[in-house]
Amino acid sequence: MQDRRHFLKAAALGAAALSLDGITSTPAHAAPYVKGGKAKPVVVSTWDFGRAANEAAWEVLKKGGRALDAVEAGVRIPEADPNNHTVGYSGYPDRDGRVTLDACIMDELGNCGSVAALEHVVHAISVARAVMEKTPHVMLVGDGALQFALANGFKKENLLTPESEKAWKEWLKKSEYKPIMNIENSSYGAGKETTFSPLTLPGNVYNHDTIGMVALDADGNLSGACTTSGMAYKMHGRVGDSPIIGAGLYVDNEVGAATSTGVGEEVIRVVGSFLVVELMRQGYSPENACKEAVTRIVKKNPARAKGLQVGFLAINKKGQHGAYCLQKGFNYAVLSEKENNVLIDGKHYF
Ligand code: ASP
Repeated sequence: MQDRRHFLKAAALGAAALSLDGITSTPAHAAPYVKGGKAKPVVVSTWDFGRAANEAAWEVLKKGGRALDAVEAGVRIPEADPNNHTVGYSGYPDRDGRVTLDACIMDELGNCGSVAALEHVVHAISVARAVMEKTPHVMLVGDGALQFALANGFKKENLLTPESEKAWKEWLKKSEYKPIMNIENSSYGAGKETTFSPLTLPGNVYNHDTIGMVALDADGNLSGACTTSGMAYKMHGRVGDSPIIGAGLYVDNEVGAATSTGVGEEVIRVVGSFLVVELMRQGYSPENACKEAVTRIVKKNPARAKGLQVGFLAINKKGQHGAYCLQKGFNYAVLSEKENNVLIDGKHYF
């Protein structure tokens, strides 16, 4: 009881101190941001829709801005894109027809914030950042996350577009939960290899994808952001890897940063992004660290791993990047002074 009282008092004091800070200022509990000015900025993000996100992030990075601001600005692009059905606005709903968002963000100081099962707010990543900067907590979920968002000036909106609603109603006819892999990559955007459209999917499939972005700024600091509407037609209340620090995203400013996409349950089982960063600490290259994390997923259950997609993406302190995935089809976008938002295919296990 005493411990709890102590915690509540400390939390109230912390919140009072933090409320003096704006969303984009350094939180009161954090060490000051250190400007070193000795790195070549680079931003990487998952899938072909990462290219538009990278452009927005680059606007911040090229001016010497902070990686944290860059990744937030970057992932807000797919969050607001009505053609992207796996992130933010117009994301495919859960099986009850509710669009629920998961997101997290982490900076170079180890500060992090997260929201899960958040409804009615387009920019889940900015709510996650506000959790990081304005509360003594790391994670808010469901109604509590919404309540916090509304109290902090975020607008309440309907995220279910007619297109997504139509796809959900089609799915309801059979209500089966089976994956289609790499759907974003094959249905629209720069890939355009096929005419496969989410709206022409048979009713017995679901699909998924996430924007995970990690960046290095000119001061040599790393940050990351990860945001998704999660697996389409998931059970109401299901939370994937994307808002979980260590699973969908992890940043250690001494070593590197990693993020993931794909079936979140598999990523959580191996604490994927944390694992990738720890492997880089041991000297693995970003690609080999991602490969080892993918291999661990396979080892746990090869038969299960064969039927689904997971991709990891990482950068290290030098700005070197790499990725690895279970199945062919995962790619990532890289933007730096040298790499002009190129799309790179992840090597794959199967
Ligand atoms: N990782 C996301 C989730 O499990 C989905 C995805 O990236 O495909 O919710």
